[in-house]
Amino acid sequence: MSDQSWPLYPPSFLGILGGGQLGRFFVQAAQDLGYQVCVLDPDPESPAGQIAQIHLQANYDDQDALLTMARTCRAISTEFENVPANTINFFVEQGVFVAPDSFAVSIAQNRIKEKLFFQQTRPQTGVGPVHYHVIEQATDMDKVDLEIFPAILKTSQLGYDGKGQQTVKDFAGLREAWQSLGNVPCVLEKKVDLAFELSAIIVRGFDDEVHLMPIAQNIHQNGILHLSMVPAPNINQHIQDQILRAAQVMIRELHYVGVMCIEFFVLKDGTLMINEIAPRPHNSGHHSLDSCVTSQFEQQVRTLAKLPLGNSKLMSPVVMLNLLGDLWTDGDNKGVKSSPNWNQVLAIPTAKLHLYGKSEPKIARKMGHINFLDESVDLALESANRAMEILGFTTNKE
Ligand code: ADP
Ligand code: MG
Repeated sequence: MSDQSWPLYPPSFLGILGGGQLGRFFVQAAQDLGYQVCVLDPDPESPAGQIAQIHLQANYDDQDALLTMARTCRAISTEFENVPANTINFFVEQGVFVAPDSFAVSIAQNRIKEKLFFQQTRPQTGVGPVHYHVIEQATDMDKVDLEIFPAILKTSQLGYDGKGQQTVKDFAGLREAWQSLGNVPCVLEKKVDLAFELSAIIVRGFDDEVHLMPIAQNIHQNGILHLSMVPAPNINQHIQDQILRAAQVMIRELHYVGVMCIEFFVLKDGTLMINEIAPRPHNSGHHSLDSCVTSQFEQQVRTLAKLPLGNSKLMSPVVMLNLLGDLWTDGDNKGVKSSPNWNQVLAIPTAKLHLYGKSEPKIARKMGHINFLDESVDLALESANRAMEILGFTTNKE
């Protein structure tokens, strides 16, 4: 297969590992360009599987499914970081182009490796991680310095949306938290005083062309992304320049092809710090579906097919509001699921609603999002606030 020419043209098959909402948007972007898509996800009702030409309903290490996928697709990408390294390596051995590759994914899926990577690249990026310690065994806790408290203990692997994290105040709390997280390898991070959070989606083509997409300013609630604003209201030129430089260095150091997200913290004193990277499109880039000339998902498709990158320009200020499963639960009628009032929400002229096709709304489960496009972020925020009122959002900011 590897002797066939590039770029890969439609209607060829592209493959995506994982069938969640990120996979679904990848499928839609690929199909818009005329590609066919093969999704691998064990969930029979996965959002991407529902709309792909082929849905292989199997585990990520299922040899038969992997072989079928390798025979169907000359290029495969991923929507989540926890893909087994052997799966990626298998595809590569079969001559499939896999982007991002297992090197980048292995760093992003392990907070210990990720932090080390941030430290190592710090001289070039100019941006470092927050003060942290690695906790792999009980004796590592003895080496922790007092200044780190209050801190957040995070499992090294398999954490997302604030899961696998506990805030700890002191040594006793640390020991308790480590035990309750299962004594698995963790990083202990100082809980820093955040002024605000930013994320940068950076894209690199096979030919080393690099684009930084518009930077988003993000608000989290309970460790889950709640809202993204673009252009970032509180950013200044210095931070913008720092992020551009750091993102370019990191994506090139990783020899990364595809779409990557870098999350940043801005401290109260203006210091920029790096939080984590995601080797895939990101929730904070969902605004680009409606606000940019080329969305993060179209960029993912283009990089995978080895086509030129699209223009990442922002066409309109935008606010993205996440819709969690909590909204489906009727507040007065505990346990009763009812559909939110889309009729009223869609009466807001700036609202672009995206639902992910998930049949089971659960608490904290990402069910959809709304992009509000307006003349300014402030005006878009007004619409977002109106939608939150209609939908009955509770304001329990962390
Ligand atoms: P996840 O993998 O779940 O996204 P993160 O490490 O990004 O985990 O943490 C989720 C959110 O928790 C962050 O976006 C931020 O709001 C908050 N957070 C995480 N680490 C810190 C920290 N060291 N100090 C302050 N807030 C933090
Ligand atoms: Mg995060």
